[in-house]
Amino acid sequence: MLLLSIYIDIFASNDYFDISEILQIMTDLLRELAGNFCRCGNCKRTGHSFCRPCFLSLPHDLRDHLYRLAGAGYELAFKLAAEYLKTHGKWS
Ligand SMILES: [Zn+2]
Repeated sequence: MLLLSIYIDIFASNDYFDISEILQIMTDLLRELAGNFCRCGNCKRTGHSFCRPCFLSLPHDLRDHLYRLAGAGYELAFKLAAEYLKTHGKWS
């Protein structure tokens, strides 16, 4: 039910049209939120997408967008944050 709700919210936002990209983003989001380890290898709190050092390395304006709810911009903010962390060597 949660997955369906997230899918509908993302699709309704008209930010994404590619179903494979939507499913990949949803999979990444749920994996990051459910786990106890950040993708960099550090421990993190369950329900958070990043460990504290990764979160604090993000630009301030991007951090602010990560407080948005699913379906209201969080997915895009997560995607941009993941790309930022990859290009800055924090995530593989
Ligand atoms: Zn991290």
